[in-house]
Amino acid sequence: MDFAFVSGNPALDLAGTVVSRRDEPVDLLAAPADLERWVAECDELPDRVTADFATFESALSLREATYRLALDRVLDRSFDPGSLDIVNETAAGPVPTIKLSDAGLHMSGDLLAALSQVARSGIAVLADPHACLKECGRTDCTRIYLDRSRGARRTWCGMDECGNRVKAAAYRARRRASTTAE
Ligand SMILES: [Zn+2]
Repeated sequence: MDFAFVSGNPALDLAGTVVSRRDEPVDLLAAPADLERWVAECDELPDRVTADFATFESALSLREATYRLALDRVLDRSFDPGSLDIVNETAAGPVPTIKLSDAGLHMSGDLLAALSQVARSGIAVLADPHACLKECGRTDCTRIYLDRSRGARRTWCGMDECGNRVKAAAYRARRRASTTAE
């Protein structure tokens, strides 16, 4: 399965690397190499990092802590203290360096710096009282995303990931119903 960057925030996208959390969770980060690929594909992080096993484990605990805090926000309850500690500690680490040129912004740093950057952007969105965090409307998805649409009317984490799938399923169900009726 491909990684999706549809949540509007790298920390939420990291949390979304476990899909179908409630029923049959699928973990897209099975090994350090998957994490290296995820960081490379994420636009807001350094292009090349290497992951050792210890840092991979830290990334997974940052991911689970971020998911828990985002869910706390969605359910409008207090943040889980243990998860706050993990996210805050990760955010306190060194951050990537950035450089401007005609080619645009270039970011460099190792995996720890990348995780620190992820934790910081997670904190920024979780602390923002105006940020509208939602869980995707497709039951099995469980991805939490930032709804920036006007009037916060978005229902799906992404059209390709979920919206079109739900619409296609509804269309098939309607067709089945009309065929049976005939
Ligand atoms: Zn979804």
